[in-house]
Amino acid sequence: MPSVSYGKHTLEIPVRVKLFIDGEETSSSKGKTFTRENPAHFDQNIAVIEEASTDDLNKAVDLAREVFDKDKYGWVTNYRQRLRIIYKTAEILREEAERIAVTVALENGMPIRQAKAHVLAAAEVFEFYAGLADKVYGDSIVLSNGNVSLIFKEPVGVVAAVSPWNFPMTQAARKIAPALAAGCTVVWKPASYTPMSAMEIYRALARAGLPKGVVNVIYGPGATVGNELVRHPKIDYVSFTGETTTGKLIMQQAAAGVKRVGLELGGKNPAIVFDDANIEEAVRAIVFGGLRNTGQACGAISRVLVHESVHEKLVNRLAEVSKSLVIGEPLNDNTDMGPLVSKSQEEKVLGYIDFGKKAGFKVALDGGKLSGGIYDSGYFVSPVIFDDVDPKSRLAQEEIFGPVIAVIPFKTEQEAIEIANNVIYGLTASIFTKDPAKALRVARKLQAGTVWINDAYTQPSEGIWGGYKQSGIGRELGLYGLEEFLEIKQVYVDTTGSLDRPHWRTVMKIDKL
Ligand code: NDP
Repeated sequence: MPSVSYGKHTLEIPVRVKLFIDGEETSSSKGKTFTRENPAHFDQNIAVIEEASTDDLNKAVDLAREVFDKDKYGWVTNYRQRLRIIYKTAEILREEAERIAVTVALENGMPIRQAKAHVLAAAEVFEFYAGLADKVYGDSIVLSNGNVSLIFKEPVGVVAAVSPWNFPMTQAARKIAPALAAGCTVVWKPASYTPMSAMEIYRALARAGLPKGVVNVIYGPGATVGNELVRHPKIDYVSFTGETTTGKLIMQQAAAGVKRVGLELGGKNPAIVFDDANIEEAVRAIVFGGLRNTGQACGAISRVLVHESVHEKLVNRLAEVSKSLVIGEPLNDNTDMGPLVSKSQEEKVLGYIDFGKKAGFKVALDGGKLSGGIYDSGYFVSPVIFDDVDPKSRLAQEEIFGPVIAVIPFKTEQEAIEIANNVIYGLTASIFTKDPAKALRVARKLQAGTVWINDAYTQPSEGIWGGYKQSGIGRELGLYGLEEFLEIKQVYVDTTGSLDRPHWRTVMKIDKL
């Protein structure tokens, strides 16, 4: 059997990835499978994945429903059990981070250094929500008439989690960990490009003692299996991360059952560099925020709005630093950027580069499809920086999801804010300036769920993540990320025992009976 090695870890490929239903790794009831190639060596078949049939999907949902509705294993009521299991899952992910990172690097193309950090970040999300499992507090109000209103927070029910491939562990952790902390049960459809990362999470959950049927994992194409799941009438809440077009479809479909949805969608995120910025700081942050994971990040900086007085200096340095990145084998410790995830992703990115060149925008850093050596066997694309880009052009308006940056010069603060906001998205933004008043003033005016000041793309578990406008609905991470999985119930208690109540008497003469 062929194998892949990194340090002391050896993985025999292709890995058989099974469905996870009722606490067991099971085969597809229809015997259907699909495969995943290594995006850095596309002649290498790295996984054979069981595809869920409608029967498998129904079974997964029914089991999650049963555990929730019957409070099997005390899952809904026993928050200490939940706390321990979520925390133990975090410990397992932490202990196994390097081995799991090899899997992430292999199927996603993420460089191994980043992949390790990625697994640890997922572990941190589990840790954070373990700490909230015993802090789901309600509220109480003593009303002006002396009665009492009790506000209870309850788990929303059975959650359909649908996650993307770009950050496969953390995107899933942000759904599963708070759902479990709240006392929900979950049916999860991971992205088809990253099935093994999902397997690592469900195996960690199982080892941590998760009762059977609390989390069930099904694999298969989003358009069929994923869509059947989100439309399933027994699902209470859909937590989706992916493209804005997919999110819109899911929202429309959810309307049929007035189902709650949480949507984490695309972005076209600006960095605004003012004339007083520390240029070196801005450049490093932009390279980190724009090119990490080969630009395949919803919060990636893809537009750089720069004050005209520092425009040339910034662009030259940005091109220089971007050019210095090591692009290549994801399982090499020196690699900064791996391949794009798939052929279709590569075609999409190259299409935008071609468009930018044909449109005649200045090319500050020329790159694109790489060839020779390892580059011939994977989807390797080097960074391209377009300069003086028209803010209305497709390059400055559409999510590219690749290593392509559009630089747009501006003259005034107001102009920068208008350009930044003039897209359909509103996920993140970065501001670079030494003036704290200006930073806060501009941050308040930007339509974005996260604004970094003198930094980019750092996401503490305690903070929040989510978008304005077409970047989504709802928030993940932090305390707000738990609220998404909670229903709020009021219980009104009469404490008077009186048969003559002012609110009855005002409307009806029943006190005279
Ligand atoms: P997709 O929308 O194509 O897919 C996301 C997930 O949804 C996958 O599991 C996919 O399955 C599934 N899916 C696809 N179509 C449907 C459908 N009709 N019904 C139900 N499920 C479906 O996005 P990508 O995987 O390509 O991810 C990249 C996108 O995700 C980018 O637009 C990015 O901006 C966004 N994203 C947003 C984040 C945020 O927090 N705001 C974070 C990360 C990414 P399958 O894999 O089988 O196709």
